[in-house]
Amino acid sequence: MTENRPLAPLNFDNSFIRELPADPEPLNFRRQVLGACYSKVQPTPVSRPRLVAYAWEVADFLGLPPQACVTDEFAETFAGNRLAEGMDSYATCYGGHQFGNWAGQLGDGRAINLGEVVNRHGERWTLQLKGAGLTPYSRNADGLAVLRSSVREFLCSEAMFHLGIPTTRALSLVLTGDTVIRDMFYDGNPKAEPGAVVCRVAPSFTRFGNFQIFAARGDFAVLKQLVDYTIRTDFPHLGEPSPAVYLKWYEEICRRTAEMIVHWQRVGFVHGVMNTDNMSILGLTIDYGPYGWLENFDLNWTPNTTDASGRRYRFGNQPSIAFWNLGQLANALFPLLETDDIAPLQAALNVYQQAFAEGWQTMMANKLGLQQFNQETDHDLCAELLTILQSIETDMTIFFRRLALLDTHNVQAGDWQLMSPLLDAYYLPEQITPEYQARLGAWLRAYLGRLHGEGLPDGTRRQRMDAVNPKYVLRNYLAQLAIDQAEQGDFTKVDELLELLRHPYDEQPDKEGFAAKRPDWARQRAGCSMLSCSS
Ligand code: AMP
Ligand code: MG
Repeated sequence: MTENRPLAPLNFDNSFIRELPADPEPLNFRRQVLGACYSKVQPTPVSRPRLVAYAWEVADFLGLPPQACVTDEFAETFAGNRLAEGMDSYATCYGGHQFGNWAGQLGDGRAINLGEVVNRHGERWTLQLKGAGLTPYSRNADGLAVLRSSVREFLCSEAMFHLGIPTTRALSLVLTGDTVIRDMFYDGNPKAEPGAVVCRVAPSFTRFGNFQIFAARGDFAVLKQLVDYTIRTDFPHLGEPSPAVYLKWYEEICRRTAEMIVHWQRVGFVHGVMNTDNMSILGLTIDYGPYGWLENFDLNWTPNTTDASGRRYRFGNQPSIAFWNLGQLANALFPLLETDDIAPLQAALNVYQQAFAEGWQTMMANKLGLQQFNQETDHDLCAELLTILQSIETDMTIFFRRLALLDTHNVQAGDWQLMSPLLDAYYLPEQITPEYQARLGAWLRAYLGRLHGEGLPDGTRRQRMDAVNPKYVLRNYLAQLAIDQAEQGDFTKVDELLELLRHPYDEQPDKEGFAAKRPDWARQRAGCSMLSCSS
């Protein structure tokens, strides 16, 4: 690292803007952009960049040592005040279905890509600032982001990665020194909040909506260019683009999406805004807005108050929404297949259903410490468990983590004794009625019977269960505590949570408090159980 050029190790090769059609308009004003995949745009300068946190692992795979990340140049660059050598900034054009309705052009309204780093392993990583100012796609908004939503995005992307879930990453979180006005609940109470910028990192930020916009406009030439570019760049193993390869590609997107959703359901992650513009073509979790983590298990829960009436994006609906979104992507790609026959595309879409069903079964078997999902017994076993979990307020994370402690020798135990390891998981002890105990007791006995059939030693089963049932997740109230402190200028909790969530499956005895269920004060507090799209 050269002392005065700490970002020099970043090696840029900006293929997206080199190979795809550009918007010819050089000025930055809001508009419909036709016939182009992106517009060149500079981040808006900010007054006093100040680093809040960075992820050293992300810096490392980009080629930056930790000492480069604490320099002024780093904070200035990743707040948008200057471009490092090789950066060439742009915003991309996309559309999307929002809450089930076609919304037309959306685009990077506050995201500005800085370029693509090719690292020492030959991997391509796009760097993208979120909250770096107006772009041609900003519509009626300001292009900015506030500290609270930026802390949430920064921490959650890293937490998801360490849980083993496909996701975009986060390099840095920088305060801008400027304020941003937000009406958090759209109820006529606007407030000045600290502004911040997150630098996100992913092989590509391309969304379903990047393809949809060209199909919707009948611009099949650019649609084909973008598809071919994406296949060559991010799916080279599929071979040279052709109608047959488009189908294989689409099938792979279906598989990857299924895999991602299975993971979400495994850990109780609710995305909150699964619009087609928030679906990554790589099957990555993308756009952390009003997401949340299930505390008490509830298939109907969504943290997003903007979706409170229809609950379209509730936990239990995520698998079918992903399917619906993939169907919209299929519609967009159909014109490229040069056929009137929709059957092959339909068959590829059905791969999602199949992959999700199989993935879900394997995931549930893993969560229960079973070697595999038994078609004869385990449909009932899982269905009954989910009904029980839903029936009274039961913390999902704690329940599965504690279930591993079940002693399989305990066959003679009564209901109460049998369920004793699980008692930590309940929010309202008065809900544990005799009927509930009997029902859970019966289930636990059936489960023990199933475990005996497998003959795995308890210790081995525990280890396996602990590897898929996290001890630590980014509970909504934990993120809020970090935000409260960060807004007072104290970033220690952001760092502490980042470190904690690097090892979500490990017991961390000195961090036990972070595994506790949601405290009562957080039940109805904004930011803990209720979030809006305002960010
Ligand atoms: P989201 O609901 O966050 O996925 O955003 C939907 C669209 O609105 C995307 O095109 C975003 O880039 C854009 N958008 C969201 N917030 C802002 C903002 N503060 N300024 C400009 N564009 C925004
Ligand atoms: Mg979005």
